[in-house]
Amino acid sequence: MGRDKANGRLSLSPVTRELQVQWDVPANLPLYRTQEQLCEDVARALGTRAAYNPLWERLHLPVSVHNLGGCAMAEEPAYGVLDPEGQVHGYPGLYVFDGAALPVGIGVNPSSSIAAVAERNVERAIRKVKNAPGWVAPERGPAQPVRADPSASVRVGMRMMPVEETPHTPVVPGTDPLGSVVIPPGGTVASPTPVVGLRFTERMKGYLHPNHVPADDYAGAARAGQREGDVAEFVVTITLPNLDRFLAQESHGGIAQGTLHVKGLTPPGGAAVENGVFNLFVDTERFYERRMLYLLPFTGVDGQPYLLDGYKEVCDNAGFDVWSDTSTLYTVVRKGHERSGPVVSSGIIRLHLPDFLQQLTTFSVLGTSSPLKQADAIRRFGGMFMGTLWDVFARAKFD
Ligand SMILES: Cc1cc2nc3c(=O)[nH]c(=O)nc-3n(C[C@H](O)[C@H](O)[C@H](O)COP(=O)(O)OP(=O)(O)OC[C@H]3O[C@@H](n4cnc5c(N)ncnc54)[C@H](O)[C@@H]3O)c2cc1C
Repeated sequence: MGRDKANGRLSLSPVTRELQVQWDVPANLPLYRTQEQLCEDVARALGTRAAYNPLWERLHLPVSVHNLGGCAMAEEPAYGVLDPEGQVHGYPGLYVFDGAALPVGIGVNPSSSIAAVAERNVERAIRKVKNAPGWVAPERGPAQPVRADPSASVRVGMRMMPVEETPHTPVVPGTDPLGSVVIPPGGTVASPTPVVGLRFTERMKGYLHPNHVPADDYAGAARAGQREGDVAEFVVTITLPNLDRFLAQESHGGIAQGTLHVKGLTPPGGAAVENGVFNLFVDTERFYERRMLYLLPFTGVDGQPYLLDGYKEVCDNAGFDVWSDTSTLYTVVRKGHERSGPVVSSGIIRLHLPDFLQQLTTFSVLGTSSPLKQADAIRRFGGMFMGTLWDVFARAKFD
């Protein structure tokens, strides 16, 4: 658990009235990488191994059971639903007292902080209703507040405000647990588990045709799309935040971000893909077959959510088909961001040779500046890539 950038976005779908959350995963990757590194360090110290949430491991979806800030307190209505006392701006008498009122992520385990803010605001509401500015909740007695640092300030909405010492409670000396944390001179001990990641950019182009029947007649849909000029293309940067885990896990997952253009569905300049998922060589039911999966969510020009859902099928059919297998993306576009959504368009998007040659120049190694470690990372990724192709196309002939 950690304190992320709190840069998610909740919105109500105008059509389905469902609450949707969009989370900026790439912007929070440095935190997630550090968290994983710390888990590895702790596991190593305990002589065991770290295990991660399957949703994160497979789909790169972070999870929180500490949801805060759905209608935050802020001085100005432009910055939050509630005023700094928890009352809805412009709706006197309507209060929100739960975790939704907290304006920012406060770190882990928030229930006591949520309760403290609720008690503060309840007390203020009662003072207002009773018209009794000096009213104090009878339960307040035994609480022993920690002495606040007089120079400290808290953020309320967009503004920093001084920490308040209430006139009704005597502030007694106490220790602020965070204040007792000391960073040793020269910094903390370096992690024994360096996390090395990899990043590359891929460009693919092809044709998708709307409402082609049957939807899995990809070649037919692509031909129809080509006749009509229904171009589709994307440029995505694929990030493997932790190469060791990428190689070890069965789903071999990475994060895809970039832009995507589907004629008729996105503006000509394309739509942003923020939290796409890429899986390299996922096992299928057939022994000598692997799939590469691309899930690229985007918002259409009509403001609706869509999902580009594509797969490359890597298996040994007749002839030498390594190149066509690894460069042909059988694609559907679905309504909504779920794989269960109805198909609105289908066809084939391809990786063309000049774009592949360009892609090879985009590989970069994250998390180390050592040329040796960078070369090692590329070698290990390349080894896995070529090794899997060997398994599918060559080993099948000898088994
Ligand atoms: C698995 C799990 C483990 C956790 N562990 C910890 C922990 O160890 N320490 C910690 O500090 N925090 C923990 N948390 C987080 C903590 O429980 C929550 O942050 C906290 O309970 C949130 O309090 P709240 O009052 O904001 O919301 P809630 O406790 O969710 O209260 C909201 C209430 O509103 C009610 N409600 C919703 N809609 C309506 C409606 N339309 N009409 C009427 N009522 C409605 C709900 O039924 C609910 O009772 C954990 C959470 C989970 C899920």
